[in-house]
Amino acid sequence: MSFTLAIVGRPNVGKSTLFNRLVGKRLALVDDQPGVTRDLREGEGRLGDLNFTVIDTAGLEDATDDSLPGRMRRLTERAVDMADVCLFLVDARTGITPTDEIFAEILRKRADHVLLAANKAEGRTGEAGALEAWGLGLGEPIALSAEHGEGLSDLYAALLPLSEGFAAAAERAPEEPELSLPVSEEADEAAPAPTLDKPLQIAVVGRPNAGKSTLINALLGEDRLLTGPEAGITRDAISVTMDWDGVPTRIFDTAGMRKKAKVQEKLEKMSVADGLRAVKFAEVVVVLLDAAIPFESQDLRIADLAEREGRAVVVAVNKWDLEEDKGAKLAQLREAFDRLLPQLRGAPLVTVSARTGRGLDRLRGAVMRAHDVWNRRVPTAQLNRWLGDMVEAHPPPAPGGRRIKLRYMTQAKTRPPHFVVMCSHPDKMQDAYTRYLVNGLRSDFDMPGTPIRLVMRGQG
Ligand code: GDP
Ligand code: GDP
Repeated sequence: MSFTLAIVGRPNVGKSTLFNRLVGKRLALVDDQPGVTRDLREGEGRLGDLNFTVIDTAGLEDATDDSLPGRMRRLTERAVDMADVCLFLVDARTGITPTDEIFAEILRKRADHVLLAANKAEGRTGEAGALEAWGLGLGEPIALSAEHGEGLSDLYAALLPLSEGFAAAAERAPEEPELSLPVSEEADEAAPAPTLDKPLQIAVVGRPNAGKSTLINALLGEDRLLTGPEAGITRDAISVTMDWDGVPTRIFDTAGMRKKAKVQEKLEKMSVADGLRAVKFAEVVVVLLDAAIPFESQDLRIADLAEREGRAVVVAVNKWDLEEDKGAKLAQLREAFDRLLPQLRGAPLVTVSARTGRGLDRLRGAVMRAHDVWNRRVPTAQLNRWLGDMVEAHPPPAPGGRRIKLRYMTQAKTRPPHFVVMCSHPDKMQDAYTRYLVNGLRSDFDMPGTPIRLVMRGQG
């Protein structure tokens, strides 16, 4: 199984040098395919036992550092669309420039799999630049030297699991693509919706009889259904796409949809396992509780799974129409929530009645906000100012009398937010201090209801 790797980045970062190293003597220019590869070089690359096609966007006009001429942007986008994996090169010596940021933005929006590499990092010269590259939010940079052939084993190690994933997906396709691949990609393949933006992906999960079917039907009721049901994402996951007051939204795999769509005449109740599967596809998970029996163990398991899978979570308490003393009940629910689901602290809790339709606007607001937070990116400069304040207010521990130094912090990823703190002796860092930082991030940057990941790393 072969795959296509595109090398992208601003001029002069070393794309051609890397291309030549990967392709070597096997270079075969395929420049006679009109409109596809005219300005893109293509060759057969090899790294260890991996064989793949390499596309290179090198040799373009120079982009000044704060602009990215249209032609170069278009070419890069074309390369990205053709590729299974994008290798984004930055120059570890000059550090991150505004043009790099523009590339990063294109890749974040458009590419399925991105590997980030800081080139010209031979010896120790590129350390600072490689560190800075974390701030692009594309994960851990691979330190490379295309010219000296260093770092290629790290590149191999990063490509290998992707290559295996493509091979596995190809074997299963088209009936049953791999569940653990990013959902957006598969969802788009299963249901091309060219007139829509990428829909927001949600799942409604909860114990049997919580009211999931009723809720979905209420949402779909007002002529909102755009497409669906869309089968085939996995054998038994289906989705519908609706217009949720202006926001294209795809709802995954619920018994309710099957009922509505009459996909199965004899409806079986959605099992917890169905719910767990739907969680994997969703960006935002709505955990639906029955107000009369909230926070049952099944509910807790599903909510916990959603958190561990890194999904944004909104808790919706259904059948609110049946409650008499709503004020007291709400206080009781909030207390139970904080006690039983501390890992979801601050997640929105909304009350709804799927039967009467009350509260559905509130639910929509909570889902949209949770999605925003989940996607939020905090600028590096702001994070580092914040880190300074946090450390001053409460210094990290000093195991054995030597204080752990927190040097630098950046947000490595979104969806959900991942932060990396570079420090001395990360292995000695106490969980309590990490929790202090996570809770601080949550409140100071207003990030309720999303899992926050924070890792400590040593340097060098
Ligand atoms: P492209 O415009 O991105 O294709 O960049 P090139 O491959 O043409 O490289 C630009 C310059 O960087 C050339 O002078 C290369 O020799 C140099 N270069 C490429 N890779 C490395 C490297 O790993 N280390 C160093 N020091 N220079 C490199
Ligand atoms: P599911 O198993 O989670 O899909 O639950 P259903 O949607 O089938 O609902 C289970 C039962 O709860 C049905 O009898 C619904 O009519 C009822 N139900 C659902 N939502 C509400 C609600 O908001 N208020 C009331 N009073 N009953 C509801």
